[in-house]
This record gives sequence, structure tokens and C-alpha cells, in this order.
Amino acid sequence: MTHRVYNFAPGPAMLPLPVMERARDELLDWHGLGASVIEISHRSKEFEALLGETDELLRELMDIPADYKILYVHGGASLQFSAVPLNLMGRPVNGSAPRRALYFETGNFAARAIEEARRYGAIHVVASSADTNHDRIPDFDSAAVDQSAAYCHLTSNNTLYGTRWVRFPETGAVPLVADATSDILSRVLDVRRFGVIYAGAQKNLGTAGLAVVIIRKDLIGHAHPYTPNLLNYATYARDHSLTNTPNTFSIYMTRLVLGWLKEQGGVTAIEQVNREKARLLYEVIDRSRFYRGHSRPEHRSHANVTFHVPSAELQERFLAEALKNDLYALKGHRAVGGLRASIYNAMPLEGARALAQFMTEFERRNG
Ligand code: PLP
Repeated sequence: MTHRVYNFAPGPAMLPLPVMERARDELLDWHGLGASVIEISHRSKEFEALLGETDELLRELMDIPADYKILYVHGGASLQFSAVPLNLMGRPVNGSAPRRALYFETGNFAARAIEEARRYGAIHVVASSADTNHDRIPDFDSAAVDQSAAYCHLTSNNTLYGTRWVRFPETGAVPLVADATSDILSRVLDVRRFGVIYAGAQKNLGTAGLAVVIIRKDLIGHAHPYTPNLLNYATYARDHSLTNTPNTFSIYMTRLVLGWLKEQGGVTAIEQVNREKARLLYEVIDRSRFYRGHSRPEHRSHANVTFHVPSAELQERFLAEALKNDLYALKGHRAVGGLRASIYNAMPLEGARALAQFMTEFERRNG
């Protein structure tokens, strides 16, 4: 049998085993065509049908209303750091374009989004958690949200630091834009609360390089004149994401992942499993004096669990022994140090259980 580990990588991340097996089985001959899905035209009726199915499944799983478009765009999540301001900064508010946007700084991806957006307009950072190395979602006063701003951007789950928004801020008439790369489809989101939700595919959707953008239709069509065609939401909307050759393989994988998620009972069901996986790991951290969690309990992520052991030496030992137990990719990001377990949708409950047991055992021997 093929050797597979419990893969805690932050992204690209593990995909559901049945999806990987099906992709393997269909690789040479997709739908009886005698050719692979990655060898056929993106304009073929078969691929267009695949795109349609992907759309339908995503709409159903996330309950996306009819006045929202789904776009499949290039460049992963990071290119959206440019696409969002290029498309939205010129949105008319009370008759003129404010060219002003609001950002929450809750981690390094949020900081990169801010840095990129500053090229295109005036950026106001509403609140930041940088002073405590992003161990929390910062407080802020929703009455202070500038109602004439073009949009307000946040990162729904902070992959490196292991925090997440539990309740999203009220921004009134200002469209909320969410980078949901590390928690899309992992918990129920009310799409109507957002103007735009975007996510890189490499965690809960498909493979790297693709981003999915879910956008309210009235926000399309205000792009800056210099916006490249392939960053313009209006172009993608007009061409049903087939302006040029899209990332066909990632769209295919996304289609399979969405089908798998539906079989699991959809987002409500997977959210329960994710909560349980997170609970198992945080419970070990909380009852221990050996492990120390990075994020504050009230803002803890259910997708990325960040923690420390008492010394660098123990950390190396932890990683080496974990690997021997088929627990892979637990090293934290250098911005936080320590360890991180990414437990996206594809991580089975048994994987989290195996890690929790290993952590308990490791503490017993080394604590
Ligand atoms: N935003 C968040 C929250 C992420 O976790 C990541 C990647 O891990 C990115 C953006 C960047 O994604 P990409 O590498 O697809 O540009």
C-alpha cells in the first residue's frame, strides 16, 4: 500500500484521500475521452461542464446568492492583494471615487495586502495586532468605520499565527472583503455579509496557483483603467473565467474536493469535525505546562494550531519523533517560531487524535 502520512502542512496542504485516488485513476483517461483533463481544451464542452459543476457545487455548499459571481482567477491569493484595490478602490461612493480603503492588520498576509494596496490609494489601518505578534484579533470601534471608504479588508483566518475572526465586524455600507484562504469551506460563512470573499485554492479547495473570488455583482466594473485584463473582475465575469487558459488542473481538483465535501455533509458537518479536531489539540495545550499556545483562547483558529515547547532542542526532538510517527510538517512559521498543526478539512479526526496522543506522550517523556 502507498505510504501516506498525517500531513499537517499549512499549504499546499493535504487533500482528501478519495479525491487523490480518483485523480490518480482518472489521470490518463477522463470521462472516456482517452485523454487527461489536463490535456484537453478549456473550451471543450467537457471542461465547460466541469466548470459549471464546480460553480454549482460551490454555490450550494456556501449558499452563494444569485447576485454574486464566482470567478476562477490566476495568481493564488496574493495576486488578489493587488486585484482587490485595482477593482474596488475606484468604486463610486456618494458620487465620487474615494480611493480610500480600510484594512485590519492581523498577520503577515494582511500586512502584505496592505503594502500592496498602498500603491493604489490611501489605506487606513482600522486596528492592528502587531504589538502582540498577532496573538489576537484586535478590538476596534465599529462606529469609527469611515462610511465613505471604498471597502474594508480582513483576513478571516490568520494561517501563520493561528487566530481567526469569530464574529465579523459591522462595517455598515462599506463592503467587507475577506481573504478566506485558510478557512474557506471550513465553517459556515454568511456570504451576504461580504462584498468579496477570495481564497487561494491550496488548502480547502484544490491545488496552488488558482484563487476563487466570490463577488457581489454591483462591485464589478469599477476597475482602474490601468488594470491588466487578467486582474480585472469584469473581464473574468464576462468570459466566465475563460479569458485565457485557466488553471484547469486546479479547477478539476476543486470540483472533486467540493464533491467530496458534499458527501461529508457539507460545511455544517465539516465545521463540527474541525471544531473537534481543534478541541483535541487545544485541550492538550491547555492542560499542560510544557506546551504553550501562541494565540489567545478567544481568537483561536480551528485551522492552524500554533504552540511552543520549552526549548529549541525539544522542538527538534519533537519534529524528528513526530515524523517517525508519520506526523508530518509540524514546524511553525519563522514569524512565530515553535510548532504549528494545520488541520484543514482534509485532515481526518484520527489525524488530530494521533497528534494529540503523540503530544501527550512526548510531554510525559520530556516534561
Ligand atoms: N492569504 C492567506 C490567509 C494565506 O494563508 C496564504 C497562503 O498561505 C496567502 C494569502 C497566500 O496565498 P498564495 O500563496 O496562493 O498567494
